Amino acid sequence: MNEYDSDRMQDLLNLSHGFETTENEDEADLLLLNTCSIREKAQEKVFHQLGRWKKLKEKNPNLKIGVGGCVASQEGEAIAKRAPQVDLIFGPQTIHRVPTLYENTEKLNNAAIDISFPKTEKFEHLPSSPGQGPSAFVSIMEGCNKYCSFCVVPHTRGNEISRPLEDIINEAKDLASKGVVEISLLGQNVNSYRDSKLKTKGLGLSNLIREISLIQGVERISFTTSHPFEFGQDLINIYEEVPELISYVHLPVQSGSNEILKLMRRRHTREDYFKIIDKLRSARPGISLSSDFIVGFPGETDKDFQDTMDLVDKVGYDESFSFIYSPRPNTTAKDLEDSVHMEVKKERLKLLQQKLENSALSISRKMVGETRKCLVTGVSKKDPGEFQARADNNKVVIFPCNDESLIGNFVDIEILQAQNKSIRGLLVG
Ligand code: SAH
Repeated sequence: MNEYDSDRMQDLLNLSHGFETTENEDEADLLLLNTCSIREKAQEKVFHQLGRWKKLKEKNPNLKIGVGGCVASQEGEAIAKRAPQVDLIFGPQTIHRVPTLYENTEKLNNAAIDISFPKTEKFEHLPSSPGQGPSAFVSIMEGCNKYCSFCVVPHTRGNEISRPLEDIINEAKDLASKGVVEISLLGQNVNSYRDSKLKTKGLGLSNLIREISLIQGVERISFTTSHPFEFGQDLINIYEEVPELISYVHLPVQSGSNEILKLMRRRHTREDYFKIIDKLRSARPGISLSSDFIVGFPGETDKDFQDTMDLVDKVGYDESFSFIYSPRPNTTAKDLEDSVHMEVKKERLKLLQQKLENSALSISRKMVGETRKCLVTGVSKKDPGEFQARADNNKVVIFPCNDESLIGNFVDIEILQAQNKSIRGLLVG
């Protein structure tokens, strides 16, 4: 979502002030930092970066510095107090106002600040994406109403707001006409998407996916992130119905312990989660799954942790993201008594990550010998004699190639080898 927001800021400032992006911060007139506050570590990085940028401002007094995103939303004016070199501060819902805020910095002595949550205004005021390359994000909803006890998102991005179906379809059509073949639907909680227009009011994510699959040129659809609560039968059926929907789902479970899930206020049990996975696997055999995990939640016992390890064994994940619990401002878990020692948390994270890596590797190895339909995404970052593609289960596949005209096209690749971080194959035909 932050990548999407950053791209929109670039598009906006290009239209409003003719700004171009540079890789070299020494020559910049405006430096914008789009921030994340999901864990404390991400937040601390912001102030380190601002410290480095302060020196640039000493060299170039005309330089403007802006901070946007969730840290800005959470800290607001406190950022300007702690880092007076900052000229503009805006939240995730006010990125469309960045050009105006930038203008205001000329008139103000203090930082220009706008961290409000103006309903759907953001979507209505953003320019449509220029659609570079074969894949594009389309934001379908923002914010979250779930209030999981550990999570800062509802506090920083606000409550759920869905875009009208018609607007999303028009944006997707526009992207397809510019050569985009893969659309990734974005939101903090995409399965609570509900169309807000009267005529089609209440229609959800499954309907949206069906509509997008009908757009000429769209050959692949994915979405992120969904929540196990509200992952209904209609969404499961859509895996049977719509072949364009990728064979991959990121469905964060956080913990395998019912006690911890309850404390996290996730609104589902491990048994509910297994049921969804079983149904998904019958609707789409071979579907790849990924998840997020939090270890060391306050009160997590060895037994709770073993339940998480057991859940990973039972499900078999293809990719995962795991973190040590980090208390966040305004969340209810922040006040829970936490008796688990940091050393124990670190050890648990290590064990979990080893298990997740083994799980991913054994799934990749099963692909060896198969021929998969892959979307060629570009030249490999490591070796220009090789190209990168993404298989129909979202796995990145590296293959030898020097034909740039293949970028953006689908090819068949025979998988030859699977290692920890990479899968290698050869073009077929
Ligand atoms: N549905 C959300 C999830 C984003 S956060 C969205 O798409 O916006 C991504 C992951 O960060 C979460 O699934 C969770 O595993 C982790 N996370 C969130 N809050 C956390 C916290 N306080 N401490 C540690 N990890 C956290």
